[in-house]
Amino acid sequence: MSEKEVYEKKINEIMEGVKKELDRVDSMTMKELEEFNQKLITTQNIVKNLAKLRKAVSPSKTKSVLSSIKSSSIKVKDNIKAKKDAYVLNRKLNKEFEAENSKNDKFCPNCGTKLALDSKICSKCGTEII
Ligand SMILES: [Zn+2]
Repeated sequence: MSEKEVYEKKINEIMEGVKKELDRVDSMTMKELEEFNQKLITTQNIVKNLAKLRKAVSPSKTKSVLSSIKSSSIKVKDNIKAKKDAYVLNRKLNKEFEAENSKNDKFCPNCGTKLALDSKICSKCGTEII
């Protein structure tokens, strides 16, 4: 096997790993997405360096691999953004929900215990609720 073939084989292996991970990108956690994103950046640098320093990989091969990494990277970043947006929206909704709920909360005037809306007597101190 020539040096060129060895490098191309290596790159193919790396790209297969990337492809496999990309298949499950939708079910990745935020941490996994960040790691995958980092891995793509590293892979991109490896391919670029191989192409530049060794001249061992054909330009067309390099180009196709780099464009494949780029589109993977876009997909990962889209996923990260979607997850972040969902997280922010979720927090916003939770806050609104809590604010809405606390408006209706009832507390014991004597001991401050939170009470069910229909309670007539405080479950903690026995104070009668008017
Ligand atoms: Zn009470």
